[in-house]
Amino acid sequence: MKDRIKRVLERIAEAAERAGRDPAEVGLVAVTKTHPAAAVREAADAGLSVFGENYVQEARDKIEALADLDLSWHFIGHLQRNKAKYAVDLFDLIHSVDSLKLAKEIDKQAAKRAKVQDVLVQVNLGNEPTKSGAGQDEAADLCREAARLEHVKIRGLMTMPPFFDEPEKARPFFAALRRLRDRIAALSIEGVFMEALSMGMTGDFEAAVEEGATWVRIGTAIFGERQ
Ligand SMILES: *Cc1c(COP(=O)(O)O)cnc(C)c1O
Repeated sequence: MKDRIKRVLERIAEAAERAGRDPAEVGLVAVTKTHPAAAVREAADAGLSVFGENYVQEARDKIEALADLDLSWHFIGHLQRNKAKYAVDLFDLIHSVDSLKLAKEIDKQAAKRAKVQDVLVQVNLGNEPTKSGAGQDEAADLCREAARLEHVKIRGLMTMPPFFDEPEKARPFFAALRRLRDRIAALSIEGVFMEALSMGMTGDFEAAVEEGATWVRIGTAIFGERQ
């Protein structure tokens, strides 16, 4: 696993350099869904510290099993409102806020815990009915409304483009997310921090880094195929 991680980090750095970016601007979220706590521990031993999970219950078990390590956990799956309270307990960053209702529930639960929860707004750029995310035209309004919530801090945008065999086909979606981020940033909405762009997975992360990703979410290239 050490070699796989080394290779992924090299590929991220090379993509950043091709785009004239500082590789230090790009964070790696190692996506651990379906993989056991032992695999996470091995990745942590190899130097990784940020891990992404899609399901609250699965994450909770692993986080408990790895409580002796100093890790940061991100939630990257679809979050149901009735799970928001657990998510606020467990995660430093929630990548997948897709509605004001969900943002309000996160705010309520974070307030109870005297926490300000960092979140990203997930955007469904392909307007795919099977994927969650705010529409491209709704994202700015969602940021504006959610920014009024005291216990939620909007840090940027996340997207999952439609699946393509060729990463170059995903590139226009990554570029579109970056432009949307810049447009929302230009609105200078109080309480909206458009610094983060979460985009790029095993099949397409180099294109995402070239287009401005600040978080790439990578599972398969590190842990192998999921069962
Ligand atoms: C599973 C998953 C990933 C990682 O996908 P890989 O192709 O294994 O790198 C990234 N983002 C989200 C939202 C995921 O669900």
